Amino acid sequence: MHRNLLFDLDQTLLDFHASEHVALKAVMEMNSQAFTEERYDSFKQINKQLWLEFEKGMISKAELFETRFKILFEECGCNTNGMDLMKINSDFIDYMSQNGIFMDGALDFLKKVVDSVPNVRIYIITNGATRNAKGRIAATGLNDYICDLFVSESMGVSKPSYEYFDIVKKTINDPDKSYIVIGDSLTSDMLGAKNADLTSCWFMPEGDVKEAMKEYEIDYIASSFDDLFDIVIKWSATL
Ligand SMILES: [Mg+2]
Repeated sequence: MHRNLLFDLDQTLLDFHASEHVALKAVMEMNSQAFTEERYDSFKQINKQLWLEFEKGMISKAELFETRFKILFEECGCNTNGMDLMKINSDFIDYMSQNGIFMDGALDFLKKVVDSVPNVRIYIITNGATRNAKGRIAATGLNDYICDLFVSESMGVSKPSYEYFDIVKKTINDPDKSYIVIGDSLTSDMLGAKNADLTSCWFMPEGDVKEAMKEYEIDYIASSFDDLFDIVIKWSATL
């Protein structure tokens, strides 16, 4: 039987924040503004708030993209009336796409998994923008390790919905027990695995771990890539 590893992308295999940091620095400097860690923290706060508003249906994605740079550059003292904020957003996404960065240890882990687990197949399951995910996957060379990727934007459904995982399962077309969902997010990855009745491994657990494991019916937890490797080996042996 295939061993189908369904990996979340961001903060599981790739470091989204490291790419974001590089891209923000680039667009700020292109627009003659000094980049500082304080500005980066501020941008993360602005972004987070706007994504929450987007998820609640209060603003469109275009408004989100424009507003995050409007607020950031106004905080720098710029008059944003004459600025092409959508162009800045597009440059930002381009820079992110070209600067994929692995989480520390992720590449060695993948090499070890491919060498050690018979019939292993690696897939990416990610919520987000297709251009951003595909670009970063290509930039890191993660492409060489994966069979396919499932990006919510292209599918029209997102984790943790049952529909999202149903498409993944129907595409791969293997028995349910051949899958393990590995990710850092309780509300998208672990809840998605629970909704789809799949084995799950919570990567980099935090907070009340015991309580979360019960609530989300989590099968395994891994606090490092070494832990995760041991779990993949252990789980593989059960198939
Ligand atoms: Mg994640």
